[in-house]
Amino acid sequence: MTSHDFHHAPMDACPFMPVFGPPAIMFDRGRGTELWDSEGKRYLDFLAGLAVVSLGHANPIVAESIADQAEQLLHVSNFFANPVATEAAVKVNTLLHDATGHDGQIFFTNSGAEANECAIKLARKHGGRGRHTIVSTLGSFHGRTLATLAATGQPTKHEPFQPMPEGFRHVAWGDIEAMRGAVDGTVAAVLIEPIQGEGGVNPASEEYFRAVREVCDDVGALMIVDEVQTGFARTGKWFGFEHFGVAPDVVTLAKAMGNGMPIGACWARRDVAAVFEPGDHGSTYSGTAIACSAVNAVIDEMVRLDAPALSERAGERLAWALSSVPGVTGVRGSGLILGIELAEGLDAKQAYTDLLEAGLIVNAVNPTTIRLLPPLTVSDDEIDEAVAMIGQALEAQLAANAG
Ligand SMILES: *Cc1c(COP(=O)(O)O)cnc(C)c1O
Repeated sequence: MTSHDFHHAPMDACPFMPVFGPPAIMFDRGRGTELWDSEGKRYLDFLAGLAVVSLGHANPIVAESIADQAEQLLHVSNFFANPVATEAAVKVNTLLHDATGHDGQIFFTNSGAEANECAIKLARKHGGRGRHTIVSTLGSFHGRTLATLAATGQPTKHEPFQPMPEGFRHVAWGDIEAMRGAVDGTVAAVLIEPIQGEGGVNPASEEYFRAVREVCDDVGALMIVDEVQTGFARTGKWFGFEHFGVAPDVVTLAKAMGNGMPIGACWARRDVAAVFEPGDHGSTYSGTAIACSAVNAVIDEMVRLDAPALSERAGERLAWALSSVPGVTGVRGSGLILGIELAEGLDAKQAYTDLLEAGLIVNAVNPTTIRLLPPLTVSDDEIDEAVAMIGQALEAQLAANAG
């Protein structure tokens, strides 16, 4: 058999591995905050592909950059250079230099997990033999590869895949003494998010983040900040750690960096990056021109729009409006990464389903918290429309509970 009959493939059988559960909806078009499903129904996307399309769906500037690049050069191997990757690396380093005061170097990856893999390998080589442990927090999320899963502080996710790689240690989130107790002379690095995203939108306090920096300095461990979800203006600053006046040694990035083009990065202070030698790490697609063309467009456009200011202003409007919605007991987070805590008896999963039906995409990050991650370009009208839909969905649950 040399010919394949794709049209008569067994369509009743799902072609995907069953790791995501049955897909809820088929989307085939988007623009800004809006999405349309294959039946033409309109949705407001307050999830943005999980903090990925921060400049909105089908952003014309990003689309043009990718389209032009596709006609110029998609990819060359890492034996050679391409100007698009160099430009993107300089841009990312400039943003991180301004945020940390340190000059650094970049390794481009294809995802957030790979950015953390690179950071973990770098920290191990920097620490040297006997000093390889990575300390992270319970409730954290760092990726799905074996090492980043081991770093992820969610033991139930480890269970089916035991044994986990060695050298990972978890401590309670927000507990300075626990951190101090765990970071000894065998520790290469602390890996930490400024706001736990998958863990339920749990922001670190300034005091906690500063203490983590101190604990690392006391023993000579690196501080790796995972900005995969919070980076690129999501929190109202370019990077989440900027809220705390703390400069990390290593920063990992992905999600919003490509606005949907799959790309991530590991940035490290120049003296830390210097421990890597040729052959220590690599990836076929590291710095591939087509993905880097998206990064360049994203950063230029975010600078032009002053994305951190957009995020801060829209986030304040959204959080303020939500705080007076009946059934909402609290709003956590900053900028446009927000967790809505629901009153007792209300169910975030039910709200997710009802809101999807009404045409609003949110995420039930845990049974009592709805997570919102709209594009940073979301309009005031779209915010008001979404808040009204959330109000109606919660009101329906409150009424059902009362009746
Ligand atoms: C999404 C996420 C990752 C993993 O990124 P992938 O691109 O899915 O591999 C890592 N860390 C954090 C904080 C994330 O939110």
